[in-house]
Amino acid sequence: MTFSPFVLCLLVLVAGVSSGCNKQQAPSEVSAEVKPTAATNAPPAAPAVTPLADSGSAAAKPDINGNHVMQYVKEIVAFGARPPGSQGHAKLEQYIHSKLKGDNVENDTFTTKTPVGDFPMNNIIAKFPGKKDGIIVVAGHYDTVYHLKDFVGANDGGSSTALLLALADQFRGKPLDGYSIWLVWTDGEEAFVKWTDTDSVYGTRHLAQKWQQDGTAKKIKAFILVDMIGDADLDIQQETNSTPWLSELVYQAATNLGYQSHFYQYKAGIEDDHMPLLKIGVPAVDIIDLDYGYNNVFWHSPQDTVDKLSPQSLAISGDVVLETIRLVNAR
Ligand SMILES: [Zn+2]
Repeated sequence: MTFSPFVLCLLVLVAGVSSGCNKQQAPSEVSAEVKPTAATNAPPAAPAVTPLADSGSAAAKPDINGNHVMQYVKEIVAFGARPPGSQGHAKLEQYIHSKLKGDNVENDTFTTKTPVGDFPMNNIIAKFPGKKDGIIVVAGHYDTVYHLKDFVGANDGGSSTALLLALADQFRGKPLDGYSIWLVWTDGEEAFVKWTDTDSVYGTRHLAQKWQQDGTAKKIKAFILVDMIGDADLDIQQETNSTPWLSELVYQAATNLGYQSHFYQYKAGIEDDHMPLLKIGVPAVDIIDLDYGYNNVFWHSPQDTVDKLSPQSLAISGDVVLETIRLVNAR
């Protein structure tokens, strides 16, 4: 796995070491899970901060147990590489279902063409009903990279899968006062050969088409994507393809909880599972830290292992998602 010069360019900017990257020099080949499209170290806009306990809500401060999420990550990584069609992938599907026993779970199963043949895909959707008419989706991918056989993706694939399981534990068995919450474990986020519009985000492209046809898309108030959110050195970028008001709401959520130092120090345009939703008009945000190890060296490498993650980072990311949900409900 090699980084494209443009990816390195982004990371240099992220590291704040140098400037002089030129978007026009972006190469046509970017073999990446997420394709940076623009980068700048301009400071983020500072949205107005509203107090935590507004709108008469007696909701407790979010308190995701990071050790609990980390335990899920360890169990997920133990299945080994988990690309579509693999034994590890099948085991993880069974594992996710075993953790969602008794919940309302839908499998969005289909077969898709890829540059290396036809593959089965399955988006797993757990639905938790709310009293308000509308849906908030929290999504994260559970596949790992097809062409990286010794890649276990503790952060890339593992952290998002685990956090969604921990969120299910939060929503289970409680009537939700706000919008319904749908948790989506997306499949086929990673490119099979190299990242293009047709070789990437297979699962969410399928979901976006389906949700547009069946009317679900109109009901989605926010699509909150989490990806690579467990890095011990947590540094969530301000992703510039994301819907501005929702992106600012995430920063406000982080600020409400005192976690803003981990958010939006740098801007980056990153293509990820939120893109197909944005294309059909669904408000979407990508909560991602694509700055994983010095010069992003752990990304798509055998070094993406649990020792690079921390329970604190997983808890911060989870708490900010819960606070963002509260703010969307209060809008
Ligand atoms: Zn990846």
